Amino acid sequence: MDCKLRAKNCGGCPLLGLDYAEQLKQKEEKVRALVGKYGPVHPIRGMEQPCHYRNKVISTFATGWGGKLTSGIYAANSHKVLPVESCLLQDEVLDKTMQAVRAAANACRYQPYDEDKGTGLVRHCLLRRGVATGQVMVVLVTAQPVLPGAKNFVKALLTEAAQRGVAVTTVVRNIYSSLNHSFLLLLGVTVTTVVQNVNSRKTSVVLGEAEKVLYGKGFILDTLCGKTYAISPRSFYQINHAQTEVLYGLAVEAAKLTGKEVVLDAYCGIGTIGLTAADHAKQVVGVELNRDAVQDAIGNARHNGVKNARFFAADATRWIGEAAAAGEKADVIFMDPPREGSTPEFLASVARMAPKRVVYVSCNPVTLARDLATLTKLGYKAEGFTPVDMFPHTEHVETVVLLSKGEIDSKKVRVEFSLEDMDMSGFQKGATYEQIKAYVLEHTGLKVSSLYISQIKRKCGLDVGQNYNLSKKEDAKVPKCPPEKEAAIRDALKYFQMI
Ligand code: SAH
Repeated sequence: MDCKLRAKNCGGCPLLGLDYAEQLKQKEEKVRALVGKYGPVHPIRGMEQPCHYRNKVISTFATGWGGKLTSGIYAANSHKVLPVESCLLQDEVLDKTMQAVRAAANACRYQPYDEDKGTGLVRHCLLRRGVATGQVMVVLVTAQPVLPGAKNFVKALLTEAAQRGVAVTTVVRNIYSSLNHSFLLLLGVTVTTVVQNVNSRKTSVVLGEAEKVLYGKGFILDTLCGKTYAISPRSFYQINHAQTEVLYGLAVEAAKLTGKEVVLDAYCGIGTIGLTAADHAKQVVGVELNRDAVQDAIGNARHNGVKNARFFAADATRWIGEAAAAGEKADVIFMDPPREGSTPEFLASVARMAPKRVVYVSCNPVTLARDLATLTKLGYKAEGFTPVDMFPHTEHVETVVLLSKGEIDSKKVRVEFSLEDMDMSGFQKGATYEQIKAYVLEHTGLKVSSLYISQIKRKCGLDVGQNYNLSKKEDAKVPKCPPEKEAAIRDALKYFQMI
């Protein structure tokens, strides 16, 4: 398979020169080489049609031949825009929608933004399609808040899109009902919302902070594993719909839920794995760093009538550290960290929460292998790995692995792990107040305040944060740390090698 953009230094499909079967073989081998020693690697799950799987497109505007506005992607390692009419990876509906956006922008005489000179109006266009619903979102990113003739732009865009078949009832799907009779469903593919996003900063980040809905509701809906999700311009959403269903299906199946389990969905994004699992679990708790994603997760639970799921916006390591220190337990933990993988502290807290099963969904087999070395020492055994090809023609590979808790002396594991395997280098400048509090709570059951910690740090001659630099004259109104808490804090400072 080849693509004319490849010769022009596109860089988007580094594996395109390889037969798809060969690509799959190489990816499976890569996973086997990295993690095969921990357990069996099952055959990779590839796509039947490994093209046009991207349900999200970002196109950057530039000036083309004859001063006409054009758009495309940055060529590999450059800031030169390579015009793109169609792309092997992108959803074809979105290619057509992008043609309509360009035609409408040209009709409105919008000038492309020039990042060197800082002139021009339109910077990028972000498109998303709800594959299961057919709804298409257009986000026009502008350098200034005013979009002259915005109404005319929307009108022209909808007309141009309709002319290219991105209108109503155009796709015919063959769906099987529960009775196994096949019937035809006419599925509409329509631009249902147009949003203006304002990004006036000199940055390579695509989206700015301000948004204005020009048409429709400002979000689209999509259905994934039987649940409906609202996707707004900034939401994180998996880009390969078909393979995400395969991936989540494998993850939830591996968890062997019976309806009685307390489930943690760590690094949960907009809550998709946890919400897919919620019907088969007693309680789902999701944790995610990105606040917008957590807002989406809470909304998604509500709109799908899921009452047994809660979501928290927090750093996963910190959150699980506090939960484990407070004696919280989980029956199953799903974890789906970013490419950097997880942290030793997170994994140690996983072991303390003592789940029977851990389902690790990884987008980077290198960091997966690193984290498995730790989880194995903590008493978890990899039952089997399934690689999933979420991104054909690229080097990326996703992997689902089920880990089960073996019969192991948990006290021994804790001591061996904390002394020999815990990377303490992060604590050289001292643990944070939250880490000290978590340690004290776990080891003594005592709750200590930041004020008490600062008092003891000062007694030990340690630097305390400015906020806690109290006056030298001890103020009678300031409570003093009681001796038992002082001893506990000193123990924590010793543990973190601060004294
Ligand atoms: N499980 C989700 C998201 C996976 S992507 C899905 O399948 O869609 C990884 C997620 O980890 C992202 O949403 C990212 O925001 C989040 N993340 C990154 N660092 C984190 C941290 N330190 N604590 C919690 N979440 C984090």
